[in-house]
Amino acid sequence: MTNTSATQFIRPELLSAKAYAVPDATGLIKLDAMENPFDFPQELRAGLTHCLNSVALNRYPVPSYASLKAALRKAYAIDSGAALMVGNGSDELIDIITKAVAKPGATIVAPVPSFVMYAGSAMQASVNFVGVPLNATDFSLDLPALLAAIKTHQPAVVWLAFPNNPTGNCFAVEQVEAVLNAAPGLVVLDEAYEPFSPLSWMPRLAQFPNLVVMRTVSKWGLAGIRLGYMAGSAQWLDQFEKFRPPYNVNVLTDAVGQYCLEHEAVFSKQCAHMIEQRQLLLNAVNALPSATGFASQANFVLARLPNALAVNTGLKAAGILVKDVSAMHPLLHNCLRLSVGTPNQTQLLIKHLQQLVSSAALG
Ligand SMILES: *Cc1c(COP(=O)(O)O)cnc(C)c1O
Repeated sequence: MTNTSATQFIRPELLSAKAYAVPDATGLIKLDAMENPFDFPQELRAGLTHCLNSVALNRYPVPSYASLKAALRKAYAIDSGAALMVGNGSDELIDIITKAVAKPGATIVAPVPSFVMYAGSAMQASVNFVGVPLNATDFSLDLPALLAAIKTHQPAVVWLAFPNNPTGNCFAVEQVEAVLNAAPGLVVLDEAYEPFSPLSWMPRLAQFPNLVVMRTVSKWGLAGIRLGYMAGSAQWLDQFEKFRPPYNVNVLTDAVGQYCLEHEAVFSKQCAHMIEQRQLLLNAVNALPSATGFASQANFVLARLPNALAVNTGLKAAGILVKDVSAMHPLLHNCLRLSVGTPNQTQLLIKHLQQLVSSAALG
């Protein structure tokens, strides 16, 4: 028998890629992944149990997801003229869009640094990915460079995370409009952080036939159920539907999603608390010696610290897990991404940051 080896058959770009790394958070205060830090609302628990008990686990989901979609449309006033599609997290929707445009020679453009799945999905689908660096001072769009990349590469898709991850800012509305007007293909506004942001593109779908607005319930309070959705013109979404696995959103997610959307206000209240904590955290970071906290419209704060590596290690030793994004992109040197926690968690984080940053500054 001849020796067989996976390396002989696996695609070379996969062999050299790394799996999405998620550190073990056991026993740590988890401020690394922009989850809602509050427990599932007490007043919804009995209703949730009832809802779960009535799910037919022996049946496949209803493939149209008609009632889930109706609940989304109602909760978020989605234009009745727009098509709507659901995904197993918005990560799956990113993957589906990318696969759908993966013709030979196709290109996808996005600012960098931004959400890592845009480039990751492009790699998986063998689509060229062109990253256009943001401006170094405030992570705003380098509009001339972005428009030049659009002109040169004629991208099938332009991704704009709005607010952007990991920088937390919303790009200027007029600049996004310029991108929408210049792009020959689709422009996806990824509004994963919409619950914390004053601005949304959802009301403007009718105005731009090449606009898709993508969202998720993950940052809002339900990261565990994996539910994403996107709205846009049927011209695009009807095609994407063909790549959607028929039962991608499971019956538990479907039921829990609908139940929680009916109680949208309870989660919005938690998000309002997170917005308050964000401001406290931002002010505290900006008061640290030689540190910069970048203004954020999301549920995290990007912090540039004199010694991010040492601070990250110190926080972990103190039982707090945050995300060191320094190595993600040169523009993020010495940057940690701090998810907003509960008031107690934020206080503790600030206390340790104060100790660690001043000791780093001293020594
Ligand atoms: C977290 C995040 C997502 C992923 O959302 P899921 O629905 O949990 O897959 C998508 N886009 C951005 C910009 C994010 O930060």
